[in-house]
Amino acid sequence: MEYKKKKCVQCGDKFTPTSGRQKYCSDICKGNAVQLQTSNRQKKFYQKNKELVKERIKKHDEETGYQKEYQKTDAFKRSKRRHYLNNKEYYHEKTREYRERAKNKNEQNNS
Ligand SMILES: [Zn+2]
Repeated sequence: MEYKKKKCVQCGDKFTPTSGRQKYCSDICKGNAVQLQTSNRQKKFYQKNKELVKERIKKHDEETGYQKEYQKTDAFKRSKRRHYLNNKEYYHEKTREYRERAKNKNEQNNS
């Protein structure tokens, strides 16, 4: 049997459904509708929990701000330097590997 033509809930186009419960003319419209629902839900959540969301954003900003400030301090620079000194061999090895690779690449390009 054939279903009666329906109007797509998303775009308003007429279409012939392949099942009785089909609401959208295509997967694209279905996808768009789902996306819209999600963003609506997020909007609603924001409306209801404005203070909470703002608080969360503020907290996040404070935390990243704190990290940035810390990276400017001598303590951080010293610990970075100490880390480098402790792992000097490793970094030298890495640099050598990198140069070696760059050299090989150049030679390949030249030939
Ligand atoms: Zn549609």
